[in-house]
Amino acid sequence: MRAALRKLFLILSLIVAQTGNLYAVPDKWNVYCVHGVDYVCLDDVWRFYGFSKREGRSDRISYGAGDRTVSLRPSKQDFYVNDYRYILSYPVISENGMLLISSIDMSKLVDPVLRPRLTKTGKITTVVLDPGHGGHDAGAVSRYAREKDCNLALGLKVRRKLEAAGFKVVMTRDKDFFLTLGERVAIANRTPDCIFVSLHHNSGNSSASGIETFTLAPHGTTSPFARTRRTEDLAGNNQDSENIALATAVHSHSIKKTGAIDRGIQRARFSVLCTIKRPAILFEGGFVTNPQEGSKISSAHYQDMLAQCICDGIVRYAYNTRTRPSPYRRSGASSVRAGSLRSGYVPRRRGTSSR
Ligand SMILES: [Zn+2]
Repeated sequence: MRAALRKLFLILSLIVAQTGNLYAVPDKWNVYCVHGVDYVCLDDVWRFYGFSKREGRSDRISYGAGDRTVSLRPSKQDFYVNDYRYILSYPVISENGMLLISSIDMSKLVDPVLRPRLTKTGKITTVVLDPGHGGHDAGAVSRYAREKDCNLALGLKVRRKLEAAGFKVVMTRDKDFFLTLGERVAIANRTPDCIFVSLHHNSGNSSASGIETFTLAPHGTTSPFARTRRTEDLAGNNQDSENIALATAVHSHSIKKTGAIDRGIQRARFSVLCTIKRPAILFEGGFVTNPQEGSKISSAHYQDMLAQCICDGIVRYAYNTRTRPSPYRRSGASSVRAGSLRSGYVPRRRGTSSR
């Protein structure tokens, strides 16, 4: 882990050197091992990114620069970037008067989110959309909505919008039939140059509501969502940075435009996330069991808005990771105003890098 952190620091130092960036960079990262987990001091993190303390909500500690604010709470796993919520793999801890964040959260979440343009991906031409459940498997059901129907309706709308934006789209299902989780993953794994977006809706008590987005838990970390035996081996995959960048883009667009409760970008070891060899997320678009939200997510109007959010997020991801030219620049036939590429959630990195 220390070797990985040193590598991260070396890479970031080189980038800073190349861009002539004037951030004050710590001479070295002190690594503190607490109960077997490596941590770095948040003061070093703030200094590295050129962040200074900010006024914010009284229950959070906030730092930032420009139009970007990061906030968190000691002893908690919540981590906010411009008020969008992430769930860290480990809580922020207080030790000898210092606030510490785990080095794995630093390298697998904080840095890819704050500097998405440094995420290097392969070419992406295709989006595999996976409407969850189907056939005899209805997923979550209530008197307001049936999950398999909401997933499929949303997926078909996302497909139309992505195709209009210039992507190829492969649907794991475009009708009401059942596929195993393995079959869904296999479709993505044999599709070249793709990302994978699994679409679901939630169930809970009648007051539970909101949107949440899952990505695979990084190697070596535990996950509170252990629905498979794979939780035992704590494997990650090679797409950690892409996964979190894709989740960030889709989730932030969805929260911003729908106004839904932000349940956060969370880590899990769901089957479809474990064995996939492509950047992947599992998106939960709302609760079928909530009277208001259940009615909303089964309405064509709301599905259309949510589909646009997902499409816009995918376009943002492709643009941020420079996997392809922005379709908006190319065609001018965008469903997103070009200006939103400049003024959205993740600000452009300061400096002169063209990456
Ligand atoms: Zn589901």
